[in-house]
Amino acid sequence: MQQYRMYIDGRWVESLSGEWFESFNPYTGQPWARLPRGNGADVDCAVAAAARALRDPAWRGLTASARGELLRRLGDALADQADFLAGIEVRDNGKLYAEMRAQTRYLRQWYYYYGGLADKIEGAVIPTDKAGHFNYTRHEPVGVVAAIIPWNSPLLLASWKLAPALAAGNTVVFKPSEYTSASLLEFVRIVERVGFPPGVLNVVTGFGAEVGAPLVEHPQVAKVAFTGSDQTGRQIYQAAARGMKRVTMELGGKSPNIVFADARQENAVKGVISGIFAASGQTCVAGSRLLVQRAIHDEFVDQLLAFARKARLGDPMSPDTQVGPVTNLPQLEKILGYIDIARAEGAECLLGGGRPGAPELGQGWFVEPTIFAGVNNRMRIAREEVFGPVLSIIPFEDEEEAVAIANDSPYGLAAGLWTEDLRRALSLPDRLEAGTVWVNTYRTMSYLTPFGGFKQSGLGKESGQDALREYLRTKSVWLSTAEDVP
Ligand code: NAD
Repeated sequence: MQQYRMYIDGRWVESLSGEWFESFNPYTGQPWARLPRGNGADVDCAVAAAARALRDPAWRGLTASARGELLRRLGDALADQADFLAGIEVRDNGKLYAEMRAQTRYLRQWYYYYGGLADKIEGAVIPTDKAGHFNYTRHEPVGVVAAIIPWNSPLLLASWKLAPALAAGNTVVFKPSEYTSASLLEFVRIVERVGFPPGVLNVVTGFGAEVGAPLVEHPQVAKVAFTGSDQTGRQIYQAAARGMKRVTMELGGKSPNIVFADARQENAVKGVISGIFAASGQTCVAGSRLLVQRAIHDEFVDQLLAFARKARLGDPMSPDTQVGPVTNLPQLEKILGYIDIARAEGAECLLGGGRPGAPELGQGWFVEPTIFAGVNNRMRIAREEVFGPVLSIIPFEDEEEAVAIANDSPYGLAAGLWTEDLRRALSLPDRLEAGTVWVNTYRTMSYLTPFGGFKQSGLGKESGQDALREYLRTKSVWLSTAEDVP
């Protein structure tokens, strides 16, 4: 069993209460790591350290170019450790090693990109209408950032926050998910070697109510950057509002993946399958509602089933595995509960629908890839986020109906569209209420491109230049150039 400490003010520490909690490997169902169970007292220490670091000349006095250089060095250092970090994430969340490794190898790009932007944060000289006055703007760091992340892609979602936050000159206190804290602590060892001053990055491990809530409430926290469920997001938004804090919220989704009769069906099948079954459906952008045009419905569903039946479940570290376990027991129970709900609502289960029977998977928290047909958009299985390998198929007649069903959701994170019709490919994205629209592809993302949901899926953007603005506040400065003040 591995034992970790958390990281506050440049020191590796236990919790002040001396309590611990365990992290489990979803493939074996066994605990593998012990972590400090932090609480409000540890949060106080971490926020105080971050607030001190904000004023410390060792951080505040760095030129923007020097900050950028630190970030780029972090990118370099990460590249060497990417495969090791991926292995830790798999042990904690059960996602496929191949997917986690692709993510951790790609992480450095966020540090290079925002490292490059750090010294391009420029204010403006405003052509003022007040005679004898000079007016300019400065973009300043917002202050101490509370960054709260979920368990599905810990280091990727951490980097989406950390890289722009540090490029803008802020300091950060992280609260990782209680299910997947180890990879962030291993990552901090790398940050430490790169030479960021103490207090610039802090990590407090523990549970949402015991660490997350006091962190959000803390009066010295200026901004909350949150990724997680919409229920938690709403609580955090309310608490942040009481303190008039800035927020970015990356929440859940019920994303439509729309297949038109003119689509290249083999491509669409692959896009639909990876859109919902990758990471066992535990991705915020999971294409969990498959909208299929009636003209090809039966034929397309047959192809989909033929493909999905071949999915190999197994050890997420093995390169042959295509579907790993889900990350934790409550999630397993939640997914199985939704499968029961779908059946009770009258949806027809075409594939899967439970835990796999194979004895070699017995210890792990597996759910079979599951496909429901005959779903209508009023059913709970079509409206609520399952966050598991469960696909709901909804037929549609024409473009108008497809758009209406796609947009009839409280969420608006992402949408997919499969068509060979150029007019449709260009016009439909304008009509879909989603922060990201993919045409003839799915789940493509980059550090260069803003990502973030509409409606109940969130507020603000991560990645791209938009994200940097989320970590800056604008000040305007007036100077009188008059000889004598009138
Ligand atoms: P969650 O909301 O349960 O937990 C997320 C984090 O919030 C955890 O660190 C948790 O400890 C903390 N937390 C819980 N209660 C808190 C409170 N009252 N105050 C402060 N912090 C608190 O989410 P989860 O189950 O870990 O993750 C799955 C969810 O994340 C899904 O809904 C998924 O769609 C969403 N997600 C969204 C994106 C995106 O970018 N939009 C990406 C990944 C995951």
